Amino acid sequence: MIKVTEVHIPPAAEALVVEVLRSGVLAQGPMVRRLEESFESLCATKHAMATSNGTTALELALEAAGIGPGDEVLTTPFTFVATVNAALSVGARVRFVDILPDTYTMDPEALRAAITPNTRAVVPVHLYGHPAHIADIVEICKERDVTVIEDAAQAHGASEGGRPVGSFGIGCFSLYATKNMTSGEGGIITTNDDDIADRVRVLRNQGMRARYQYEVVGHNHRLTDLAAAVGVAEFAELAARTERRRNNAAALCDGLRDIDGLVLPVERDGCRHVYHQFTVRLDEGSRIDRDTLADKLRAADIDSGVYYPRAAYDYDCYRAHPDVHIEQMPVAEMVASQVLSLPVHPFLSPSDLDRIVDAVRAAL
Ligand SMILES: *Cc1c(COP(=O)(O)O)cnc(C)c1O
Repeated sequence: MIKVTEVHIPPAAEALVVEVLRSGVLAQGPMVRRLEESFESLCATKHAMATSNGTTALELALEAAGIGPGDEVLTTPFTFVATVNAALSVGARVRFVDILPDTYTMDPEALRAAITPNTRAVVPVHLYGHPAHIADIVEICKERDVTVIEDAAQAHGASEGGRPVGSFGIGCFSLYATKNMTSGEGGIITTNDDDIADRVRVLRNQGMRARYQYEVVGHNHRLTDLAAAVGVAEFAELAARTERRRNNAAALCDGLRDIDGLVLPVERDGCRHVYHQFTVRLDEGSRIDRDTLADKLRAADIDSGVYYPRAAYDYDCYRAHPDVHIEQMPVAEMVASQVLSLPVHPFLSPSDLDRIVDAVRAAL
């Protein structure tokens, strides 16, 4: 079976974990700091703060930006639900902005139309590893004094105009096992803003500045040094693994060109896509639908994934939620019924790639 995701922790992680075990410093210690420094260099930001996971990174970023009960947060409905859950957990009200049909990221024109005087934060998602129109979004938000929080959970190392994601607004990364790099569970917040960085550091550690000096009501969103040790070893492989993802994506695009009804992923001019997913779309011109293609691939021992089968608001728990504004998003709904992610991970062999291309061609 060719899988959609494979986890291969580099052997170098083992010595680093042992180093932490022997040091006796197990949380928010030197190994966590080492991982944070890696993200400061990856994102070219002044600060990076590790958190317990990507969801708590989003929550802390929102809270540090002063977003709370009654504040309006805009995001896209075509994302992993953590983006929505994080905004709801700080008490914010969520409204959605539709996506573009080429990169599946927030439509800046739709954002311009949706933003209101109540809007306090916008959370674009760099979905599948492709940057949202982040410079445009920052520009729109700047005029209105709205905070931009980048959901970069899937986009470690992606960039727009040569500038890394996570450096435009407040960046939030996930280090969950299936992401482009992992620490098991973990998250990172990046920023150039000293005040935001300071508030995040205090909030993640029970609101404590110095020992037993509580400044605000905080949380325990710290990362362990054991997890950070895995993250440090994974980070060392990130550049090479990202190159392999990009090469695999290029090979798949070459092999799958010119098939009726098959829409391939694009890399917008000036952007660097890090292919967390290689997501194709079967539009009206296709002979079969997305689920049939997935079935045929499975029969050929090739796994695939649907990220995501529905718009985020299209579940009873959100439809019934008093803080979620329900509005139909036609592009997101269409795309949710058409997308299928094919394996693109760095551990595919050339013959795996040939098999994927042959099986998709045969099915379509
Ligand atoms: C994975 C993910 C998150 C949440 O990260 P966790 O580390 O799983 O909490 C948030 N947003 C997006 C788009 C994600 O893919």
